[in-house]
Amino acid sequence: MKFVDEFRDAELGRVLAGKILATVEPGRHYKVMEVCGGHTHSIYKYGIDDLLPENVELVHGPGCPVCVIPMGRVDDGIAIAHQDGVIFTCFGDMMRVPGSNGTLLEAKAAGADVRMVYSPLDALRIARENPDRQVVFFAIGFETTAPSTALTLKRAKAEGITNFSCVCNHVTIVPPLRALLESPDLRLDGFIGPGHVCTVVGARPLAFIPADYHRPVVISGFEPLDILQSIEMILRQLAEGRCEVENQYKRVVPAEGNLKALEVMAEVFELRPHFEWRGLGFISQSALRLSNAYAGFDAEQRFAVPGVRVADPKACQCGEVLKGVIKPWECKVFGTACTPEHAIGTCMVSPEGACAAYYNYGRFARERVVS
Ligand code: SF4
Repeated sequence: MKFVDEFRDAELGRVLAGKILATVEPGRHYKVMEVCGGHTHSIYKYGIDDLLPENVELVHGPGCPVCVIPMGRVDDGIAIAHQDGVIFTCFGDMMRVPGSNGTLLEAKAAGADVRMVYSPLDALRIARENPDRQVVFFAIGFETTAPSTALTLKRAKAEGITNFSCVCNHVTIVPPLRALLESPDLRLDGFIGPGHVCTVVGARPLAFIPADYHRPVVISGFEPLDILQSIEMILRQLAEGRCEVENQYKRVVPAEGNLKALEVMAEVFELRPHFEWRGLGFISQSALRLSNAYAGFDAEQRFAVPGVRVADPKACQCGEVLKGVIKPWECKVFGTACTPEHAIGTCMVSPEGACAAYYNYGRFARERVVS
C-alpha cells in the first residue's frame, strides 16, 4: 500500500475485525493498552473500538506529552515568561495547559511575551532576530521530539547564540511503562507499541515487556488498518502462547531506530535522576535534562524558577486516565466543568489527550456493532 486512504479502507477494516473476532477466546476478557496519544486519537476518530468484540477492551496509556506535564512545570514556565526581556516560546497546545495559577495563554493576556512556535528552530530564529532579548523554548515530548530540540541546541551552540535557552521537559517512554506494569491497579494483556517513539529508539527498548512481564507488544502505525492489524497480532500472540515485540510499522520503524538521532540526543541530553509526571508522581530516570556541555542553554539555570511541586486540582482524575484505570467519561467533571474550551486537566487540552479525543469524537452514546 502506498497511499494513506488505502490504510483507511473500510472493507479491509471489516476483514481485520472478522479476524480479531475469530482469534479471541469467548469468555476471556482482554485489556490492550495503546501507549501513544496518537493511537488514542485514531481509535476514537475512526471508531475502531466499535469494530472490536465486547471482550476486547482498549485502555489508554501515558503517551501524550502535553498530558503528563505537571502543574509545577507550567508554573515554572509562567514565572520565566513574566521576567523582563524574555520572549517565551512553546507549542500551541502547551499554552492552554493549566498551572496552579492559570495558563501561559493567560500569562500572555496579562502582558508576558509568550509566542506559539511550530518547532524549536522557530524559537531559535526568534532569538537571532531579537539579539537584545532572552528567548526561551519550553521543550516537551517523548523521544519523538527530543532529537529536534537537541539539533536546535547544537545549531545554537555552533552559531554562538547566547540569548537562547530551553526548559527541558523531554520524557522517556520506558520508565512509565515499567511503573504501569508494576502497578497492582491494572492488569494488561498486551501493548500497542508507540510507533513514533520507536522510529527514534527502535524496537529493542520495549523488549523488557515480554522478557520481564510476559506481555506481547506490537509497534503500530497510526492509521485505522495499522491499529486493527496490531490488535489482531497481539491477540494472535496470546492465542498461540507467544509473547514478543513485533513490528507492524516496518514501513517507518527500523529495528535499530534512528542512530543519528540517538547520537545527537546522547550528546545534548542526560537522564534526570527523577521527574514528576502529572498524575503518576515521581518516576526515576524518566526524563532528560541538558548535559554539562549544553548547561549554558539550560533556562532552569539561567532564570529563577519556583520549582515547587503542586498537587493537581481535587476534581482532576487525569492520573487515573493516564494510567488507564478509568475511561475519560468516568471522570466526574468530564464534559461538564472540564471541556476543551475550559480544561481542568491536561488530557482535555492536547488533541492527543484521551479526554479531548473522546470529547471530540465519541461523547455521544454509540451503539456497539460487532459483525
Ligand atoms: S475530564 Fe478533565 S479533569 Fe477529568 S480526567 Fe479528563 S482532563 Fe482530567
